[in-house]
Amino acid sequence: MTNLFSVPCKPLLQWYQTNLRDLPWRHTTDPYHIWVSEMMLQQTQVKTVLPRYEQWFQLFPNIQHVAAVPLDDVLKAWEGLGYYRRARFIHSAAQQIMDQHDGIFPEQFDDILSLSGIGQSTAGAIASFCFGMNTPVLDGNVKRVLKRWHNQYEATDKQLWVLAQEAIDASNAPAIWNQAMMELGATLCQARSARCDTCPVSRYCKSAFSNIEQQPSNKKKTPVKDVFWQINLHTHLEKGLWLQQRPEKGIWAGLWTPPIIELPNKPDCSPCHIHLLTHRRLHLYSKPLSSAPPSDGKWVKQISQLALPTGIHRLLEKNFPKNKYQIIKA
Ligand code: SF4
Repeated sequence: MTNLFSVPCKPLLQWYQTNLRDLPWRHTTDPYHIWVSEMMLQQTQVKTVLPRYEQWFQLFPNIQHVAAVPLDDVLKAWEGLGYYRRARFIHSAAQQIMDQHDGIFPEQFDDILSLSGIGQSTAGAIASFCFGMNTPVLDGNVKRVLKRWHNQYEATDKQLWVLAQEAIDASNAPAIWNQAMMELGATLCQARSARCDTCPVSRYCKSAFSNIEQQPSNKKKTPVKDVFWQINLHTHLEKGLWLQQRPEKGIWAGLWTPPIIELPNKPDCSPCHIHLLTHRRLHLYSKPLSSAPPSDGKWVKQISQLALPTGIHRLLEKNFPKNKYQIIKA
């Protein structure tokens, strides 16, 4: 591959300075804030993250707070953002920072990378945004921009890391460069459309004004598997609803749900709710029961203190009259 970054980086940097979206994490270089924003933004849209980002720091103003609270509190704060593994990573990395770095977010790249749940791209973002290091970001947006820019749709991650490193080295402005590449991918050079007519790098881009939709992708699609779950709703007039905590691994790990039984086949009736995960389509069938609940779990009068998956919230909304669900939810 040729190094297209021998061309001036200026147009992209200038475009970013005047077109950047005003987002709260762009007003800070505090590594705790940047870290949390990067984790939230990994799988969740900006508009969903915005209010949750502010709420997070009201609940956990610093790393010490996150490390000290039980995991359940962190999962609860993450409720609705999905991919709860990220919340578990933040909790365990906060404890790592307390144990290994006296509660201060580490500044060395290898130390950042060694924190639970922080991969090379997230470490690159934190190290460049907060400590000015020449460490590239290679998230989905940046990969797409690099592939199009170079017209190298089959490029491997290893090849893209080399290109990303060359680019940031040439930029002389690592923090802004990374943010500009991410912004370009998020706004102009999107997966299904490219606004090459307003793109600051169209002069240098080998895919400019080509038919983006027809360009090949080396992404293999994992098929979505249908799963059929019976959700047992044990209720008690005074005690509330019986909930169990999910195992530490697997779907909805660590969250609270009514007892779930996996059904071998699709039932004849319609599901109460269908919840889509990345590789699973969960068909949820509610079953109200007055029998004694299983031994593990607890009666819960109000679910607001526990982290429940969104799919279960939807199912409960459909199973309880609005006023009763509101009481449980209160
Ligand atoms: S010119 Fe078009 S394809 Fe190339 S980076 Fe810009 S928006 Fe993407």
